[in-house]
Formats: sequence, structure tokens, C-alpha cells
Amino acid sequence: MKNNLKFILILLAVFSQCIQAKNSAADLTKVTKTPNLIIILTDDQGYKDVGFNGSTDIKTPNIDIIAKEGTRFTNGYVSYPVCGPSRAGLLTGRYQDRFGFTSNPTMDPSIAQNGIPTTEKNIAEILKPAGYTSAIIGKWHMGTHPELRPNKRGFDYFYGFLSGGHQYFPQDLTLNDLDDVKYKYDWYRTRLLENEQRVDTDEYLTDELSHEAVNFIKREKDNPFFLYVAYNAPHTPLQASEKYLARYQHIKDKKRRTYAAMVSAVDDGVGDILTTLKELGIDDNTLVVFLSDNGGARNNASDNGELRGHKNDLFEGGVRVPFAMRWLNKIPAGVDYHQPISSLDILATIVAQANVDISENKPLDGVDLIPYITNEKKGSPHEILFWRHLKAKSHAVRRGDDKLMQVKQDTLVFDLDEDFRESKNVADKQIEKAGSLQKAYQQWESELQGPAFPYLGSWKKNRPKNQGKNRNKNTNKSKKKNKGVNK
Ligand code: CA
Repeated sequence: MKNNLKFILILLAVFSQCIQAKNSAADLTKVTKTPNLIIILTDDQGYKDVGFNGSTDIKTPNIDIIAKEGTRFTNGYVSYPVCGPSRAGLLTGRYQDRFGFTSNPTMDPSIAQNGIPTTEKNIAEILKPAGYTSAIIGKWHMGTHPELRPNKRGFDYFYGFLSGGHQYFPQDLTLNDLDDVKYKYDWYRTRLLENEQRVDTDEYLTDELSHEAVNFIKREKDNPFFLYVAYNAPHTPLQASEKYLARYQHIKDKKRRTYAAMVSAVDDGVGDILTTLKELGIDDNTLVVFLSDNGGARNNASDNGELRGHKNDLFEGGVRVPFAMRWLNKIPAGVDYHQPISSLDILATIVAQANVDISENKPLDGVDLIPYITNEKKGSPHEILFWRHLKAKSHAVRRGDDKLMQVKQDTLVFDLDEDFRESKNVADKQIEKAGSLQKAYQQWESELQGPAFPYLGSWKKNRPKNQGKNRNKNTNKSKKKNKGVNK
């Protein structure tokens, strides 16, 4: 009897060990299979200002790796042609006009509506219950009110700034907080934030952000993570350090030379990020997306190639951006994808691929791109895409190769297959098509809200002219000019 009991106990012990081993193997499988997500977002970068879209003067060998080892989107769009609303769409996977994010938000920290409303969930908030750790490194621009800042909106770590742009050199970060802002765009001069704490830096801003991104990856290498690297480069002010300017001495135009150097700094940072992933052995388990938040701007010497228009336009140059995605061994390498896709799709893609349940959430406007890229699904991810620009009294619709634009009283129709440069308005010949696209727009517009907050320029006065300009310039000259102003 005793022997039998002993035998049973031994059996139980072995069985229990087997179960434990099985569980830890299952956990391991789960951990290694939950993909990390890194979004690298640049600011006001032109469609052609990456090697993978044919840039000849600016070299981006590291950014190009993402396209070379992944998929390049030739018709990759953002949901708005300027920073704030475009980012609100990207982060929520929903058209930002659905929740009144219709312009760049005011920087006034007393306004509780000046960002993504708490009724909407962003990528970090959605991935958190699935065990993700999230960080934003760089530009937030999604609200300055204490309840709207990154750490209150699902991000475990924040290193950067709240404003839509920033000075790049540490010696120009002279304001301690938004309370010190006296004139418009002084907020470009605030010290950086690490979570809720103001911190000092001694590096050129783009380098600083890249280093913090690498540090975060190293810290979180064993956890599923979402890293949102929101560079403010190459947004104005045009400021680059000597290290990067030295690479572009042959570019005669000073603005273009500085812009090229700023892009080059981002490219080095992307190289550091990709190298880190490889060294840590997590590069095949990390989905990396690269894009710009809108098309190249008129004021930063960017190049949208043959696309018409710039930042703030609904022409292709405003909303079609450099866009590529890499997921080693998961999506094809070195392939071009030509169907229209959107920044709204990034959230939908990661939740589908990580099996995150969002059935209780508001419906997404984006779709999971992976089955389309891998050819499992045929056809276009989007039957139709929309843009609304209230301030410019304009809107746009793309369905297949047909694009309709309404700019105040003018109706424009383009066939993007034959005319991606948008040079021939065929509205007069395509009256029926124009009517059908307008009708689709009106249906979509009926689901949207009006502006939820005051626009960016509504807070603080302009700096008086006799006190000199303090924005868009960094040089020692401008520092001297403004001596005493920012104290
Ligand atoms: Ca922008």
C-alpha cells in the first residue's frame, strides 16, 4: 500500500512538472509571437525626400532599409495635411473629424478639450490591456491640458515636448514651462519633458530623441512594446548640427542644405534603432513603420517630387507621404504596394496581428494591411478615402483612381492613374462621377463633428516686431537679437 502511494506521489510530481514546463513553453511562444510596433514619424518631410522614393541629393540609407526589407507604399496617405489632425487620426485609427479634431489644437493648457478626447482610445491605450509597454519619444501635439498629456493617455514613458514644433539646440530651451510663454511660438523654447518632469539636454534634439528611443528598446526588449518615435525634423525651424551639415556642403541652397542635414540626422537615428533591434534579436518580431505626418511644407525646402501641392493642401503633395513598413519573414521584402492605404491602418494592423480584442471600442476606419501586402486578400484595402479641411473650406475623396476635390466653390476631378500630377481637371467631362463622389462625401460628412477646441493661433499674442523674431531661427545671431526677451 505504502509503495503504491509513493508511486502515485511520484507520478503526480512528474505530471505537475510536465504541466509547468508546458505552460512556460506556451508563455514563451506567446511572448515571442506578440509583435512589437515601432512607428517612426517625421514631420513635414516631402514625398521625394527619401532614397526609396528617388531622392538624389539626400541620402537615407537607413530609412531605405525599411522599404528594402519590407514594403514601400506608393499611395500611402495621411488623414490630414497638417501635423495635429494627422497625428490624431494615426493614433486613434479613426478619422479625427469624427471627434472634432479639425485643426491644430491651441497650446493653452487650461482647455480640457484641446486634444484627443478621453472618449477616444489611442494605440497605447488599446495595446495596454494586451500587455504592451508604450513610449512616445518626441512631439506630442495632442493636447497640453494635464489630463491630455501622454502619461495620462496610455503611454508609460514620454520623452519630448508637447508643442507642434521645437528648437533643436539645447541652449535655446530657455523656458521652464508653458506658464513662461509670453508670445506665440515661445513654446518652441520649453525645456524637454521626461514624463512630467522638465529635464536638461546637451544634444542636438534629433540625436537626443534617437538615443532615448534606443534606450527604451533596450529596457523593454523582453516585453511587447509600442514605440512611437515622433521626430519634429525636418519641420521648421531649419536647424542642423555641423556633423550633418558637413555631409551636404555640395548643396548650394542653404535652406535645402540644412533640410538635408536634418533628414540625415533622422536617418542616423533610424539606423541606430534598426541596429538595436538586430543586436537584441527582436528585429523579426518587430513591425517597423516609417512615414511623414503630412507632405513637404512650403517653408522647409522639402521636395514632393512631381506631386502637386504642399502641406496644408488636399492635393497629393499635402497628403501622400513617404510610407514604408518592415516585418521580417512576415511581409514580402522589396515590394511596392500601389493600392491606396492610410496612416489610419497602422492601428488596425497591429491589433489584428496581436489579436487584441477591440470589439467594445468605437469602430476603426483603418484596416489590417498584412493580408493585402501578403496577397492573401485581393482588391483594395479601402473602397474610398476622405479628407475634410474645414478652415480651407475644402474636402477631397479618392475612390479607385478617381479623386474629387472641392476647394471653396471649385470642383476638381482627376484621374490619378493617368494624371497623378493632378494637372488636368476633368470635372466638366465627368459630371456623373463628380456627383457620385460628392454624394459619398456628404454621407461621410454627416457622421462628423465640428471643431472641438480653438485653433493653434488663438493663444497668446504675436511677438512685437521691435523685439525681433524668435522663431524659425536658431543661430547665435538670433540669440543675440533676442537677448533679454526670454528671461
Ligand atoms: Ca507636420
